[in-house]
Amino acid sequence: MHLHALDVPPLHRAEKKSYSDALGVPTTSVGTAAYRLLENQGEAMLKAVGYGARRSFGRLKIFEFEREEAKADEVEIAVLYCGVCHSDIHQVKNEWSNTVYPCVPGHEIVGRVTRVGENVTQHAVGDTVGVGCMIDSCRHCGPCKAFEENYCEGPNGWLATYNGPMVPAELAPGGRNTYRRDNTYGGYSNLIVVNQDFVLKIPAALKPEEAAPILCAGVSTWSPLRHWDVSAGDRVGIIGFGGLGNMAAKLARARGADVTVFTTNHEKIAEIDDMRFKAVFEGDKKAMKALASSFDLMLSTVPEKHDVNPFVQLLKRDSTLVIVGALEPLAPINNQELAFHRRTVAGSVIGSLAETQEVLDFCAEHGIAPDIEVIDIKTVNEAYRKVEKGDVRFRYVIDMSTLHPDAAA
Ligand SMILES: [Zn+2]
Ligand SMILES: [Zn+2]
Repeated sequence: MHLHALDVPPLHRAEKKSYSDALGVPTTSVGTAAYRLLENQGEAMLKAVGYGARRSFGRLKIFEFEREEAKADEVEIAVLYCGVCHSDIHQVKNEWSNTVYPCVPGHEIVGRVTRVGENVTQHAVGDTVGVGCMIDSCRHCGPCKAFEENYCEGPNGWLATYNGPMVPAELAPGGRNTYRRDNTYGGYSNLIVVNQDFVLKIPAALKPEEAAPILCAGVSTWSPLRHWDVSAGDRVGIIGFGGLGNMAAKLARARGADVTVFTTNHEKIAEIDDMRFKAVFEGDKKAMKALASSFDLMLSTVPEKHDVNPFVQLLKRDSTLVIVGALEPLAPINNQELAFHRRTVAGSVIGSLAETQEVLDFCAEHGIAPDIEVIDIKTVNEAYRKVEKGDVRFRYVIDMSTLHPDAAA
């Protein structure tokens, strides 16, 4: 499909209003050190606009910044939709104590290719493409060579789609900064420029807005289902039924598993029933007891500190409970329950590029889509409050066409 230049909002060419004026900061102060370096070298920069937080506990506001123009191996993408992940909220609020401000979140990005560098062979102008949680990795370490970029052990780890390298220069060996940048800006923006190897193909059978959450929520649950080889007849327990739990349950069922969903929310029981999964209220001691030693795999999708001990007891001997939601210390685990049944509690983070493409293709083939609510970016702060209360069915996806220069008024 040929894409006319007018088919996407040409925001980086529209300079009617200065958003940085509205924020009271000069545009030049928002570039990272790397950006300034490149500017000095005469690299072309693109004007970009998005929603960002300038400081912890700040609200997301219109934010104007610059991106480097696509180099030979890079693809410029006009963002159409971006999912709202719970980690966006953790990051905006600095709840993992590693946020680099300004923070423009968003790592469930679906867009249309508007320009490609001269060496780009994998994508063409007009393609519908996706960008997930990573936009680069070291490419030399063991995990990278094994196509597990999400476990990159390079000096700076993988380069996150927003918030910069996973290992910032000040924590890297010798203060190294292999990506030459300290911060990156994510998908709550009109455009993004990404190396072609980290751009996914969105199958035509998927609606672009429904494809977006597959890029984080989907692959974060798909990867452990693949790694622990869930197959027909397995009993799988899903703890929590938000954005990740919704995808986890659908993907596990499509692999032939018998799926039970655990929730602390009475209102979700009926929804889980409606989707024809088995539902268990976590406070129902009798129901929990009846399920002792009966699961082949459990995934905890709860995005904050919680107690997994009641679920460890539900694992069969030699089976595993994988934490995919929380990235903070959990309540202590009673090792008696692990040791006497040789059970394992494991962690897993997002998935590789290959797994991300695989889950997109799998969803297209099996007619699986996350349940989503499409929102206007102007309501994103309200959406954050609802996500924190668990009051969303089940993923907010921002329609990026609502990000317009006039929005700053
Ligand atoms: Zn995410
Ligand atoms: Zn690596």
